Amino acid sequence: MTRFDVVVIGAGLGGLTAGAILAHEGRKVLVLERGNSVGGAASSYKVGDLFVEGSLHITGDPLHPRDPKHAALGRAGVRDAVAFVPAGALYEIRGGPLAQPFVLPDDFAGARMALLARFPDARRGIEQFLGEMQRLASAAGDGGLDAVFALAPEFPDWSSSLADKLQALFGDDEALKCAIAGNLSYFHDDPATLWWVPFALMQGSFLLTGARYVQGGSQRLSSALARAIRKGGGDVMLRRAVSGIAMGEPGAIHRIAHTARDGSDPQSVEALTVIGNAAPGALAALMPDAQGQRLTESYAGRTLSLSLFALTLGLSQPPRDFGVTSYSTQLLPDWMETLACYADGKALMAGEPAERMPPLAIADYAAIDSGVPSPPFVLSVVGPDQIANWSGLDQDDYRAKRGRWQQAIVAHLDRNYPGLAGAVTAASFNVALSVQQYLNVPQGSVYGFAPLPPNDSGAPYRSPRTVLPGLYLSSAYAGLGGYSGVVQAAAACADAILRDGPTS
Ligand SMILES: Cc1cc2nc3c(=O)[nH]c(=O)nc-3n(C[C@H](O)[C@H](O)[C@H](O)COP(=O)(O)OP(=O)(O)OC[C@H]3O[C@@H](n4cnc5c(N)ncnc54)[C@H](O)[C@@H]3O)c2cc1C
Repeated sequence: MTRFDVVVIGAGLGGLTAGAILAHEGRKVLVLERGNSVGGAASSYKVGDLFVEGSLHITGDPLHPRDPKHAALGRAGVRDAVAFVPAGALYEIRGGPLAQPFVLPDDFAGARMALLARFPDARRGIEQFLGEMQRLASAAGDGGLDAVFALAPEFPDWSSSLADKLQALFGDDEALKCAIAGNLSYFHDDPATLWWVPFALMQGSFLLTGARYVQGGSQRLSSALARAIRKGGGDVMLRRAVSGIAMGEPGAIHRIAHTARDGSDPQSVEALTVIGNAAPGALAALMPDAQGQRLTESYAGRTLSLSLFALTLGLSQPPRDFGVTSYSTQLLPDWMETLACYADGKALMAGEPAERMPPLAIADYAAIDSGVPSPPFVLSVVGPDQIANWSGLDQDDYRAKRGRWQQAIVAHLDRNYPGLAGAVTAASFNVALSVQQYLNVPQGSVYGFAPLPPNDSGAPYRSPRTVLPGLYLSSAYAGLGGYSGVVQAAAACADAILRDGPTS
């Protein structure tokens, strides 16, 4: 049986980044991925002639030294392997409580100016909130989550939700709240349960470093990481689903069983250290009962993050021809009179499309130097979703309901951007159920554990270490979700292994 220093279960962004850093450090690495390609959510692919970006709208600029990905991607050897192109602004937000569209620039100075110009009466609150965001995001960029938590004593409202924080600063000015946090589904589904600190870190990181897209698609970043692993002497095996994990005693050898996707061709490898890039729930299901239970219990009380639907439309003309004026647009429906209404968005697809449309995050890849091929011109439309919206349906009913929602979203876009519906030539619609099946994530969660305020359990807020010696996490579950959170967590995972992991 072949023995590796490190076996990584899953080739998502977290598994690949940790694998590339460890391979670079001389560890013998094997990555096992059940899918047809590397990247997990960080993938882009073609459906017919339609280019589909599996996830990425924006991430911070890793070339900025305070971006959470800067050091990790440098250590993985890929920081210069792909181009991160400017997104132009953080977003344009329209609808909901905003009488006129508002553009939030992707830098602190620009954001401050734009917010003060539009909401001059809220100067104090705006200055305070942006100042705190800048401080927290800078600390995260310099010293990771540990440096952020060290600041806790300086914030009397440390454990507040985003909703409470914004209420205290801005009262009932819902237009301002939406202007500053209208891209909520990039983090969570409900401002009343979202902890303001991770919001400030993630939103602040965009404003600190600038909003970027991976030119040519997120697949390029994932493929560059896989190449870095191979260059470092490691291996990445595709279409190999891990089917069993037996963790040995501390310091002993662990055994990983894997098969082809249809369960045929069983093989096993030995590992001195195991990295789970797959979700903890998926890992636990592959373990002997007692070990799986221990792992599961150690995360009891954690809430999973939201899921997203992603409708990719191919248009015969660029979206700007129909009035789409920014790369990234947050389109709030009329019924969303407050930021709090976000909480209702994720359950809308439980029913049939009616008057209420979900809030939509839209990316127009033709608006920037994205490298996304056209025609068709690609418009990505993302919104909050949950697995319960799609459960209990047979295949035909599921497809039919998904089709009705697709039609309704296109009609909604057409009301906001007249003529757009007539230009749609291709579409691909992934909902929470597709995310769950494609990534093997419980509940279709896309950001790991939900970024809720910390509880008093004494357990670390996030950690790459697990209760099972020799098993580490490198994924959204080990840090914060999204590209930056995952890549930063992967570096923390690699560091923990370099500190305590045995080598052959
Ligand atoms: C529609 C959408 C839009 C998004 N937009 C953005 C955005 O604009 N900006 C941003 O920062 N983030 C965005 N995200 C979130 C971001 O993509 C994710 O948080 C991140 O990519 C998760 O990476 P990961 O490595 O933790 O896990 P994943 O990408 O989930 O990877 C896990 C991997 O493990 C594999 N796996 C699971 N079980 C097994 C097994 N038994 N054997 C072998 N392999 C297994 C899976 O196939 C998968 O490849 C978006 C996500 C989605 C879905």
